[in-house]
Amino acid sequence: MQAFQLVAWQQPPELREVPMPEPGPGEVLIKVAGAGACHSDLHLMDWPAGQMPFDPPFTLGHENAGWVERVGAGVDTVQVSEAVAVYGPWGCGHCRACRRSSENYCERQAEIGVMGGGLGLNGGMAEYLLVPSARLLVPLGGLDPRDAAPLSDAALTPYHAIKRSLHKLTPGSTAVVIGVGGLGHMAVQILSAISGAQIVAVDTSPEKLALATDIGAHVTVEAGASAAELVREATEGRGAELVLDVVGSDETIALAAQCGRSEGDVTIVGLAGGTFPMSFFSQPYECSISTTYWGSAIELIEVLELARAGKIRAHVQRFPLAQAAEVYERLRDGQIDGRAVICPHE
Ligand code: NAD
Ligand code: ZN
Ligand code: ZN
Repeated sequence: MQAFQLVAWQQPPELREVPMPEPGPGEVLIKVAGAGACHSDLHLMDWPAGQMPFDPPFTLGHENAGWVERVGAGVDTVQVSEAVAVYGPWGCGHCRACRRSSENYCERQAEIGVMGGGLGLNGGMAEYLLVPSARLLVPLGGLDPRDAAPLSDAALTPYHAIKRSLHKLTPGSTAVVIGVGGLGHMAVQILSAISGAQIVAVDTSPEKLALATDIGAHVTVEAGASAAELVREATEGRGAELVLDVVGSDETIALAAQCGRSEGDVTIVGLAGGTFPMSFFSQPYECSISTTYWGSAIELIEVLELARAGKIRAHVQRFPLAQAAEVYERLRDGQIDGRAVICPHE
């Protein structure tokens, strides 16, 4: 079968012929309906050897949904041809974090080394994806798996980041989303669906800001020298209860920190590698600065509920597997609105 693989660090990925995987005991073979092209894959392509605990070659695509093609011995919780989302962070399944379904924070991650399909193991940018356990599959219950694929990361990651601050997002509060791309456009919708906050969207691109307005942002701000001032104006000078930095560069972390209020949360989700010189006086009192990584399997179930209720929807542009390389170039150039999804069977 065809697979879009990272074959070496800092080299462009390649479409290659690879063997069709066979599900062993407990494993499930998925016919991939959609694999989202996440900006993290661009970081993976750029990072040098040693940045991640694993090495190529492996098939890209960590944001996947599809149909159960074949099940290994002992699997009786999913049915052949059932549409499922794949929960992407693959932990040990047994530690305390995994048992509360937060495999993103598996206590044995360092020992395991690989982080999931598309992150050290073969991912979904191929005709078929081998999933190591049925516990990592969530039934889609009527959602189209091509449109649902981004829910497993582009929505799950901001959902988790928003949920941990949800008690602060009461009516009259403000949440700022910096970077309204794949994750950011889901963040705006999730805030609109589950919080009482005023939503401020910040981006460098007027097109992304126009999309933000369409999907629920109350205020849009073009990134630049006066962005912090404009955000503070929108909060009558108080600053925001939650600032989600979905870029993570020096510039955006500095902006995020300037937008937070006392007792607020500045949450860095983007992996652009920026740093921030923190000191006692660098931000308002009790304004936390934190990172988050992906989300729990229970949260994925909640995200899928929101999608089934029609409250959130990934804005998907579909592409065939043969165009994967081109899709990532377009993502790098900022030419993807919402999320590009590779559909290997179309
Ligand atoms: P994307 O390319 O789809 O979106 C990025 C958006 O940021 C674009 O709309 C772009 O115009 C905007 N942007 C770029 N520079 C900006 C600036 N200086 N100010 C304001 N906006 C700016 O990317 P994505 O797939 O949504 O991923 C976003 C980031 O999140 C990436 O760094 C990715 O690696 C990371 N990520 C983190 C996690 C996690 O668990 N922490 C999970 C998935 C992705
Ligand atoms: Zn991702
Ligand atoms: Zn674990």
